[in-house]
Amino acid sequence: MYFYNISKEALIGSATLGVVFVAGYYIGKRKSTHSSMDIFKSHVGAKDNPIMQYVLNHSMREHPALKKLKLRTMEDSWNFIMVACEQSQLMANLARLIQAKKAIEIGVYTGYNALNIALALPEDGVLVGCDVNEDYTNIGKPFWKEAGVDHKIDLRIQPALQTLDDLIAAGEAGTFDFVFIDADKANYDNYYEKSLQLLRKGGIIAIDNVLWSGKVVNPAPDDVDTLAIDKLNKKLHHDVRINLSMLTVGDGLTLAFKL
Ligand code: CA
Repeated sequence: MYFYNISKEALIGSATLGVVFVAGYYIGKRKSTHSSMDIFKSHVGAKDNPIMQYVLNHSMREHPALKKLKLRTMEDSWNFIMVACEQSQLMANLARLIQAKKAIEIGVYTGYNALNIALALPEDGVLVGCDVNEDYTNIGKPFWKEAGVDHKIDLRIQPALQTLDDLIAAGEAGTFDFVFIDADKANYDNYYEKSLQLLRKGGIIAIDNVLWSGKVVNPAPDDVDTLAIDKLNKKLHHDVRINLSMLTVGDGLTLAFKL
């Protein structure tokens, strides 16, 4: 299953590229360069893994609306790009741990993780959802409403960099508690820098796909996505503005804690 590691950012990262074109491009590209490491997600690479089943059976506490949205998303042919439920629960728990009130999600897809984070926020909390594809975000909306948290999700359909710039211009730098970066890889460093600006001290930036199916270990010289991720990984390793953990959950998850 070579196309497991197509991220939602490949689909929704650019407002100027059509889904079919981008998907075709990525499938072709990944078929020729795929590494042996599969994404360890409960609904994709690790679906039939007994250890993963044990983890799910002994830890998942999904809200009923989350379960329904996951099932609805599984009907979509791009469901493999959804954030795995076990990773999403970890991020929601981190948001609870730091008593997050303001969050940003860069790359929403059908909004499973946005719903999970919104459930972790207080009644007057807000999650700014950044995406360019309303067809996908519309899938999640009824479930956000069913869970009673739709009023916490401020969805902005435009390129994420524009939304981040808007927030900075509105004087919201240093006020956000939690950011999840999961969009086009070429812009990862830009998303990181703007997110760090918007984050308060002690806030967390979670970055998805940092292992990119293992390709970061030996990036092909013309693989711009892998190179962009690897470059950011190397930069973060020595970034004195943060504390850092890189986890092997999903397709690799980096947690950056702002100092
Ligand atoms: Ca992803």
